[in-house]
Amino acid sequence: MAATLLYGHPAADQIINRLEDQVQALDEKPGLAAVLVGDDPASQIYLRNKKEACRKIGCHFENIILPDTATPEELLTAIDRLNNNPAIHGILCQFPLPPVLSHLKNQVISRIDPHKDVDGLHPVNVGRLSTNPKKALNHGLVPATAKGILELLRFYQLDPAGKHAVIVGRSNLVGKPTAQLLLAANATVTQAHSRTSDLQKLVRLADLLVVATGQPRLIPGDWIKPGAVVIDVGINRTASGLVGDTDFASAQDRAGYITPVPGGVGPMTIAMLMANLITAYQNSLRS
Ligand code: NDP
Repeated sequence: MAATLLYGHPAADQIINRLEDQVQALDEKPGLAAVLVGDDPASQIYLRNKKEACRKIGCHFENIILPDTATPEELLTAIDRLNNNPAIHGILCQFPLPPVLSHLKNQVISRIDPHKDVDGLHPVNVGRLSTNPKKALNHGLVPATAKGILELLRFYQLDPAGKHAVIVGRSNLVGKPTAQLLLAANATVTQAHSRTSDLQKLVRLADLLVVATGQPRLIPGDWIKPGAVVIDVGINRTASGLVGDTDFASAQDRAGYITPVPGGVGPMTIAMLMANLITAYQNSLRS
């Protein structure tokens, strides 16, 4: 039997509608600023989606665009200005940076005021997630995709507790925070990466499989444990259109539940980014 599809839009729309109501009740509009260096086409699409989500919930959106000839000082000064701007409550820098600036990634992340770090990548927020994941999830700034995956599971009443979760990918943006949150939700977590030997053997053990590698169709359907929950985070542009990191056609014959690409995790990421913006705004009222 084909797997049940875990569409992101119904869950994401619910969150967006709730945030819209919350923003309407505020005296002031929360503000999000996104810094883009250069003109990477994928980044431009992501930023359009973020702008549109801000518009939907009634928040202010500012796009700071720097040329790919920008100096490190110009980039860091742009972030400092946003840190000091009281109308801006959330700041993100769209990665990748142009090759000449790519070594600055960690410096840029650390330069963003941790209270405004809506991507949840600042070492302070990473530390909070690691030491107190439940508090971080409810009141802190946690990477939106990881938070979105947990919300999606909650929406479809798929409790990770007691399940063996295998996460393929260990990035700071997706793999690692997802592992922290699943651990906090009482799953038993195994994390795989490009140097894992015998990935197939591990994947076969997964009751809950999260794949975030950026490798189109890396996981064939016959690796998947029958009935497993499969969360495919990958977004890969190929000649045949957008595909995930699992081979969807064969995976949906084996899995019990699977996220489509596009339309699965993507909408949740945007919704949880907006949730982070509102959390950052609320936290700013307390400090
Ligand atoms: P990164 O490139 O930062 O990390 C990829 C991870 O996958 C690394 O840990 C890498 O291992 C691992 N990996 C790569 N190849 C293999 C392999 N052959 N076998 C096992 N593991 C492998 O990517 P991100 O985490 O940022 O993103 C992953 C994917 O998710 C991308 O397609 C991205 O576009 C998508 N994405 C989607 C989002 C959404 O909203 N749906 C949001 C964010 C990302 P190692 O550490 O050893 O190099």
